[in-house]
Amino acid sequence: RIISANLMMEEEQVMEYSLRPRYLAEYIGQTQAKNNLKIYIDAAKMRKEALDHVLLYGPPGLGKTTLSNIIANELGVNIRTTSGPAIERPGDLAAILSNLQEGDVLFIDEIHRLNRTVEEVLYPAMEDYALDIIIGKGPSARTVRLDLPAFTLIGATTRAGLLSAPLRDRFGVISRLEYYTIEELTFIVSRTADILQVQIIGEAAREIGMRSRGTPRIANRLLKRVRDFAQVKGDGIITMDIVNDALISIQVDHLGLDEIDHKMLRAIILSFKGGPVGLDTIAATIGEESQTIEDVYEPYLLQIGFLQRTPRGRMATHTAYQHLGLPIPKSSP
Ligand code: ADP
Repeated sequence: RIISANLMMEEEQVMEYSLRPRYLAEYIGQTQAKNNLKIYIDAAKMRKEALDHVLLYGPPGLGKTTLSNIIANELGVNIRTTSGPAIERPGDLAAILSNLQEGDVLFIDEIHRLNRTVEEVLYPAMEDYALDIIIGKGPSARTVRLDLPAFTLIGATTRAGLLSAPLRDRFGVISRLEYYTIEELTFIVSRTADILQVQIIGEAAREIGMRSRGTPRIANRLLKRVRDFAQVKGDGIITMDIVNDALISIQVDHLGLDEIDHKMLRAIILSFKGGPVGLDTIAATIGEESQTIEDVYEPYLLQIGFLQRTPRGRMATHTAYQHLGLPIPKSSP
């Protein structure tokens, strides 16, 4: 009975202890963004003012949500979280804004997906901490301005270019998150393994880091899947053999490319002679959404030099041919 009580306590602790770091000092990598934010946060605290509005952009899973929560935590204020598609009407946003307390953070994920009429509510809110409400209709309609508490808007988006210019211009801090290095990802994998209380060999943590496409969310996901294999097929310890076996089973290659990356590269190479080919055509050929390819798959393939973007479409590079073991035609880039 004592043993089972102990186990339960441990399990609860594991569940409670989220994988998300809570302070800037625990947030691995993104040194430049982090150092600058630290200064802005300290300055805002010294002046007892709300932090200026922050736009975080970069591919999914790089830590935008995590960083937003950390910013609120470091400022010692509450954070209210919502997302672009969740706010349908201007009134929804007005209600959220008027419920904020002085200094609070409002986090809007996928902020590029706000619709125009909702977005317009944000302009005076961001600039003057005010809500412009229209009362009445037709010729007798008039605008009443309501004051809002000083707050910080943190917007997250996969690409800053998707934001309208008037919205983008209202952010005082614009920060781009970068893909993580293998060392940083190895550290993240080891940290998560500690939190999940699973033993992992150093070399195996590095291997998972190498196959995580520069992305902490993928590193954590791979670690959890590999842990399942270690538990069922091994003795619970994550070794190199377990990582290799598990990643073969879940079809993640040694560079971290998965089935969809392979399908996409093969389509460009085999169906379109290496390109150039338009994004929509690639998407239709492999049965994926263009948006998903553009946000999730393409940025990493561009980063590792497997793809090139040209005005006429995407092209596969020699390195991509080599990786897939396909003969390189003379005319490809
Ligand atoms: P995004 O909002 O950019 O899609 P998230 O903030 O949701 O990404 O991060 C995905 C996961 O990766 C989180 O659960 C978090 O545990 C982990 N993570 C992200 N950035 C870091 C980091 N710098 N250090 C440690 N873990 C991180």
